[in-house]
Amino acid sequence: MLFIQDKLTYEEVRCRFEREGYTLLSTEYRNAKSNLNVRCPHGHEWTTNMSNFASGRRCSVCSRRKKYTLEEVQRIFAKEGYGVLDSSI
Ligand SMILES: [Zn+2]
Repeated sequence: MLFIQDKLTYEEVRCRFEREGYTLLSTEYRNAKSNLNVRCPHGHEWTTNMSNFASGRRCSVCSRRKKYTLEEVQRIFAKEGYGVLDSSI
């Protein structure tokens, strides 16, 4: 059981998200249970709160999608200048 103090400042909360590549969209923070709008590193926006985030809950879109599709892998590799030859992913 994680204890989240309600005394975190907005800046501290924002840092916690940014440390993991998330962007805090909400402009105020009240307490660990108040809703926060956040954007994940993949650009999905969702609503969470500090309590959920601290206990490991992340973007629901990303967690539903366990694997990258072949197309996404190809796009990521192409960006880096690599081609994907194996289509069995
Ligand atoms: Zn996501």
